[in-house]
Amino acid sequence: MSHPILNSPWAYACEPFAVSDHAYYVGNTWVGSYLLDSGDGLILIDCGMPQTVYQIFESIRKLGFDPRDIRLILVSHAHYDHAGGAEAIRQYTGAELYLGKEDLPFIGHPELLLSDLIHCPDFQVDHVYEDEHPLCLGRFTVRTIHTPGHTPGARSFFFEDTSDGAVQLCGMHGGLGFKTLKREFLEQHQLPLELQSVFYETLLSLRELPVTIALGSHPGHTHMLERFAAKKGNENPLIDPEFWPAFMAERAEAFQREVL
Ligand SMILES: [Zn+2]
Repeated sequence: MSHPILNSPWAYACEPFAVSDHAYYVGNTWVGSYLLDSGDGLILIDCGMPQTVYQIFESIRKLGFDPRDIRLILVSHAHYDHAGGAEAIRQYTGAELYLGKEDLPFIGHPELLLSDLIHCPDFQVDHVYEDEHPLCLGRFTVRTIHTPGHTPGARSFFFEDTSDGAVQLCGMHGGLGFKTLKREFLEQHQLPLELQSVFYETLLSLRELPVTIALGSHPGHTHMLERFAAKKGNENPLIDPEFWPAFMAERAEAFQREVL
């Protein structure tokens, strides 16, 4: 599997912007990455591809931070577009890298990383998520929820931050694409078919979370870039308590229609 971004990553560059008072979008126009300024070091969620690491660093510097202050790297799942840049960033920053333990067997397997047409370097995992223990650094407490399906170990992230003068719950579902959940893909890669039903059930249960800022692991999932571009005045255009439950319900319904 490949994507035109790999041939011309510069065409997908995106200006960084704040999604809440201390969290920032530092991804490109196709795949998301987020920077959390904890006040005691930085947290990076997702790493793009080797070809786009320079853009993540450029965005971090534009925001006035130093990539070398990244202390935690949280990878949502082991696919080349979220984990491809992980090892370069880990080595440059010395940060500790987290991945879901169920995705560990993917490392070194291009057909599972969806990286058969490009090189997705192996990356060292320092810790696996323990969902009962949120990750705490400075002002941030990041809660992880195991949301298997898109990959067996996919994690979704939830954290509170302020924006527009109030506390907001930011949430990012860690893997929403259906392609790797189709029966043929699962059978071909000897992955359990039950990932389909768990994925569906998890979407329904996540719908109940009071997320007020929905982040996209790919920005297109939540139309974040368009919503941000339409910003008027000082209000944060991403704050919308109705967006998240509708988004989870829509994905569940689409999954039922297209895959189940
Ligand atoms: Zn993926």
